[in-house]
Amino acid sequence: MSLTGQSFIGFSRGAGSETCGSAINPATGEALTPNTIAATDAEVQQALELAASAFQVYREKSGAEKAAFLRAIADNIEAVVDTIAERGPQETGLPEARMRGESGRTMGQLRMFAALVEEGSWVDARIENAQPDRQPLPKVDLRSMLRPLGPVAVFAASNFPLAFSVAGGDTASALAAGCPVVVKAHSSHPGLSEIVAEAVVKAAQDTGMPEGVFSMVFGGGRTVGQALVKAPQIKAVGFTGSLAGGRALMDIAAQREEPIPVYAEMSAINPVVVLNSALGESSEALAEAAYGSLTMGVGQFCTNPGLFFIPAVESDAFAHKLAELTAAGATGTMLNEGICQAYRDGIAALQGQSAVDQLALVPSEATGQGGPAVFRTTAAEFLKNEALTNEVFGPATLLVTYHSEAELLELCRSIEGQLTASVHGSAEDFEGAGEMIQILEQKAGRLIFNGFPTGVEVCHSMVHGGPFPSTSDGRSTSVGSMAIFRFARAVSYQSFPQAALPAELRDDNTLDIFRMVDGVQGKH
Ligand code: NAP
Repeated sequence: MSLTGQSFIGFSRGAGSETCGSAINPATGEALTPNTIAATDAEVQQALELAASAFQVYREKSGAEKAAFLRAIADNIEAVVDTIAERGPQETGLPEARMRGESGRTMGQLRMFAALVEEGSWVDARIENAQPDRQPLPKVDLRSMLRPLGPVAVFAASNFPLAFSVAGGDTASALAAGCPVVVKAHSSHPGLSEIVAEAVVKAAQDTGMPEGVFSMVFGGGRTVGQALVKAPQIKAVGFTGSLAGGRALMDIAAQREEPIPVYAEMSAINPVVVLNSALGESSEALAEAAYGSLTMGVGQFCTNPGLFFIPAVESDAFAHKLAELTAAGATGTMLNEGICQAYRDGIAALQGQSAVDQLALVPSEATGQGGPAVFRTTAAEFLKNEALTNEVFGPATLLVTYHSEAELLELCRSIEGQLTASVHGSAEDFEGAGEMIQILEQKAGRLIFNGFPTGVEVCHSMVHGGPFPSTSDGRSTSVGSMAIFRFARAVSYQSFPQAALPAELRDDNTLDIFRMVDGVQGKH
């Protein structure tokens, strides 16, 4: 396809008014063609109105029909993987292999949600039969299930230009729930966004979905994104990005006449606790694994391990090896100039801390390059300096040395909400670490034993969420099939005639789904 830089307003292309920049190759600083054209206010409004009217049709589509749509999107992406693999590295600095791998993950997510809604039990159908003779009062017939919220605004992420972008996890889970989606494309990768949006629109047309089930708008300067969040047609928001951006959208959503949920995934430093038993002879191997996790994707993962709690007496061999690997490491191209500059600022802020030692840093002055870095401080310093808990998005980490179990517990208590927390030690250590695990469980969405947080499996039991500020709502996940629950709400139907009930709640269970009937789970 030839790129035009124009938005998708339902099944049509927006004409736009003015350019809002273009993709910049982060490795060279060169502007790529075409220019991106910002959607006009009228086009944004049209996308919203189409989404609202599409919702009235799309919400009634069966699980099988939605599954066909989601699978068609995946198939259409599969057909353009070579185009993605060619354009993606120019826009993101990520290698071709990552483009292909992330395309696979994106298709996998879409197909996972297709299977989920086709099977159908996700709606959590519950039936309580009437008991007209119950004493002292009769019991009414009450049935409930999850229903879609309405049109969802999705803010594409910069750091997963496919799997958390136009047809990424937020879009896939919202469409699976029965919600139309209006995507605010990320300005970092407009070409990829256009390629994928075309795949989605074609799938919608080919599977008979209503126009407006999907739109994608370009626009910088925050205006287009804020207009979406303020729009009365939008009933929920999915976002991945900075804490400042997520917080701003949460505040806008809360101030609406009708406040709506914002599911924002924002900032995490993913503490890794190292216990004595993980060190000794294993110190160097652990440092090698830590280095691999820290530098994967130039550290630009929300699960990057940005913080280690490590015993002071045993830490030298680990710290020495990690510093050695880091010093010998290479710089990598970061996703965009803003992220690169933010990384350099974060490094400078750590360098400016008198109680923080720089153990290793690969300097990076060339265009768009970020180099790995390791810093070290003590628990006492960490506990009195909040600035040390700031996310430095990139391949930098801070080792914090502790002297006692009490100090380690204090460190664990001091951290804010996280996506993950990892603990390295022997199984015996782990069994005796009940209090620490309890603390960490209150801080993070995923607890990891003897592993590192990067590498997020997309599956039914994944929780990629956590208490604020890692996300705006610690009850949610943005990865895995549970992500669908963000975009649905339970509705009870009291004393409804059978014919007026959704198929999922009728006595005959023709869909053959698992349901709870009078308190008993089963396919009945
Ligand atoms: P961002 O600046 O938060 O932008 C993400 C998206 O949200 C963009 O589409 C942006 O729109 C929009 N946006 C941001 N602030 C907004 C506001 N106040 N009102 C309306 N829309 C707003 O994130 P980014 O560009 O991806 O990266 C910047 C920083 O975010 C990174 O340096 C890193 O620190 C952090 N980050 C963290 C994660 C993570 O998973 N923890 C992932 C990615 C980035 P515009 O295009 O109009 O600006």
